[in-house]
Amino acid sequence: MPVYDVVIVGGGNLGLWTAYRLARRGFGRVAVLERGWAGGGATSRSAGVVRQQGGSETAAKLGKLGRRLYLELGDELGLDSGFIETGYYIVAETEEEREGFLRLVEVRRAAGVENEWIEPEEGKRRFPGLNWDRFVGATYTSDDGYVHPPIAARNATFAVRLSEGVDLFEMCEVLGIERSDDRYSVRTVRGVFEAERVVDAGGPRGAAEVGAMVGVEVPVMAVRHQVVSFPGFPEGGEHQLPLVFNVGKGYYWRPEEEGVLLGMSNPVDEADESGRYQIGFDWAFYEEMRPDWEGAFPALEGLPVSKAWAASIDYTPDHLPIIDEPMEGFYVLAAGGHGMMWGPALGEKLAGLIVEGEVEDLPKDEIDLGRFGRERDPSTPQDTIALPFPKK
Ligand SMILES: Cc1cc2nc3c(=O)[nH]c(=O)nc-3n(C[C@H](O)[C@H](O)[C@H](O)COP(=O)(O)OP(=O)(O)OC[C@H]3O[C@@H](n4cnc5c(N)ncnc54)[C@H](O)[C@@H]3O)c2cc1C
Repeated sequence: MPVYDVVIVGGGNLGLWTAYRLARRGFGRVAVLERGWAGGGATSRSAGVVRQQGGSETAAKLGKLGRRLYLELGDELGLDSGFIETGYYIVAETEEEREGFLRLVEVRRAAGVENEWIEPEEGKRRFPGLNWDRFVGATYTSDDGYVHPPIAARNATFAVRLSEGVDLFEMCEVLGIERSDDRYSVRTVRGVFEAERVVDAGGPRGAAEVGAMVGVEVPVMAVRHQVVSFPGFPEGGEHQLPLVFNVGKGYYWRPEEEGVLLGMSNPVDEADESGRYQIGFDWAFYEEMRPDWEGAFPALEGLPVSKAWAASIDYTPDHLPIIDEPMEGFYVLAAGGHGMMWGPALGEKLAGLIVEGEVEDLPKDEIDLGRFGRERDPSTPQDTIALPFPKK
């Protein structure tokens, strides 16, 4: 029976980065148990947006650290990091949004993120392709961008495979977890693993179920998020394309090879309890929203679609992450739907919690599991720069 210091359930961006950051600390023997292929869950289906312009202190700090760790990993592996810097506008359509965004510029700056407010006149000069008459302004960070998800998954998997003391088991579904005195027995389709500590990094299709195996309620839900890619711009339309997020409308776009990738969430979609990663694409919603983004960015008008997919994205009730140890030796890590931008940083923070016993530099009430059981104070932070996730 293999014995480990830490068994991580889930080999997505979060589980892989946790294993890697533990190995960087030289911490004991670590096993990552993955039901399918490493990175094959939400991670490889994502859009890869890496945004430091979060909607709270925690979000901004995690975005900044995540971006840095992606770049460092590329250097450490001697491979490209997969991160492409484009600059990122988060556009405001209403005065109310504008006020909230101006407050967030201060929050982000306090977290060390360079963020500025752009008036429409200035926006027209910098990014003339956008129909700025539709907006009252935007926040902007020049070193935001995106990772190409297959490369991010490749690098994190590669980092784990090269790390001394870390074993990765694919096709190794965890079926149950039992606790006795000072250790956990993790029952899998490939036998039982013994460990002093277990990390639940099961993502949208596993975190809640893995928590339930030890009686811990983990409010990680899944909902449809869908993405299309357009193969290119019409002739003459090519230009350096920044990322743009219309938070109020729930869509964003970024460059994708010669063309554009556009993601969207329907605010009326409810939590999806099918257990599936693949979910049907909602073309009616796509058509309903199309005039909106075509009006905002006319270069997108009438473009053919080269790829389209819908998949389950994780969310937590406040869109913030979970980094906690609710039971001795049992840890929960979840990204609240931001696991590409925050994944490396979440892995680093959880490794810190396991080895040093604390999560440095983040407010507890934005990361602990207990916050969901406490009476909600209206001033409690939520990540307001998030997709329109279901209310429950
Ligand atoms: C369409 C789409 C677009 C997205 N775009 C972005 C974006 O632009 N930026 C961003 O930051 N985030 C984005 N996300 C969200 C992001 O992909 C997720 O937050 C992130 O991938 C979560 O990582 P994870 O490791 O928690 O989950 P996963 O990648 O799903 O990994 C969890 C792993 O756990 C395994 N597992 C579960 N249960 C068990 C078990 N019992 N035994 C063994 N293994 C188990 C699963 O097989 C899975 O591989 C997007 C998501 C989707 C679906």
